[in-house]
Amino acid sequence: MSIKELKDFAEDINKCSKCGLCQSVCPVYKETGNDCAVSRGKFVMLDGVLKGDLKLNKNINKYLDSCLKCGKCTDFCPSGIDVCKIFETAKYNYAKNTLTGKIIFFLESQFVFGNLINIFKLITKPLRKQTKGKTSNSLKLLYFKGCINNLCPRTDNYLYKIFKHSDIKIIEKDFECCGQPFLSSGNLERFEQVKKHNLKMLENCDFDYILTDCASCESTLKQYMDVKFINTGELTNLLGLKFKFPQPVKVTFHKPCHLTNDDFLIHLLKNCKNVEYTEMTGYDDCCGFAGEFAIKNRKISKAISDKKAKNILATKADYVITTCPGCILGLYQGLSKYKKAPKIISLTHFLAKANSSL
Ligand code: SF4
Ligand code: SF4
Repeated sequence: MSIKELKDFAEDINKCSKCGLCQSVCPVYKETGNDCAVSRGKFVMLDGVLKGDLKLNKNINKYLDSCLKCGKCTDFCPSGIDVCKIFETAKYNYAKNTLTGKIIFFLESQFVFGNLINIFKLITKPLRKQTKGKTSNSLKLLYFKGCINNLCPRTDNYLYKIFKHSDIKIIEKDFECCGQPFLSSGNLERFEQVKKHNLKMLENCDFDYILTDCASCESTLKQYMDVKFINTGELTNLLGLKFKFPQPVKVTFHKPCHLTNDDFLIHLLKNCKNVEYTEMTGYDDCCGFAGEFAIKNRKISKAISDKKAKNILATKADYVITTCPGCILGLYQGLSKYKKAPKIISLTHFLAKANSSL
């Protein structure tokens, strides 16, 4: 598939009615009050670029970078504009012609990034337990680990602990990164490369669902894989698992921006004995991290994380649970300065703490 250029989105950019509704949901606009940081303002600039009135230069790039790619404006836009797709393309058009962009693209290449992950996969393989099916009718789950779980073997072992009595078979394939970091950096060529590779992994593979442990991976894969997905929480509900925790614990939940559906959570928590849930104010507000956004926009990122942290602390929970490794970093950014902060934990790790899953 050929990669689109910014000019291919001229019609979509013109669909923006400048209604300003995106301002009411954009975490960056709420923090900065700067119209250039939200989709409406960015479309005004990109329209100027397409008309030849403005240059796609580092000033415009700065505003393309001041976006969390949370997709909240896309969900809200009455004109139905696929906002992130346009920003990614603009970023690609800019970055591919700059020295910094070329260096980043090299670091993200299969040769550097891909091989680094492969080395970790190899080193950590003996440390990982594998969940094998018990019968020929096992539920077959093709596991998309994601880069973080490829670096660190713990999640495989949590899955083993949670599902060791269930009749499920976890199938492993040699997937590459889902591609999310490459979309953010505008490295659309690398994105197409991993997409092609990952789709190839599905060929001749018999499975019921793709199992994920990261909301961002899942939402990115859904852009190009037309299959059924399931996350750890949904899987425990499907299998009817019940959990008993050794001591009473209070928990709250941070909903990652990329987690499209969290209906599973309440049902799951009802099946957790000794767990008391409190919903935090703004439980679906962004954590402020979003990978390179946090590096390029330190102050804004910290301010968004700080707000989140205050809402978490108000719940007086022992644990704040989430389903995205990136959000774990964002929550840590906000909570790390507090001595008595709740522990930040992935849902899979939390469930593995139960002393029984039946
Ligand atoms: S919500 Fe959509 S149509 Fe309205 S200003 Fe924002 S991008 Fe434009
Ligand atoms: S994707 Fe999120 S951060 Fe970026 S403009 Fe839209 S609402 Fe704002």
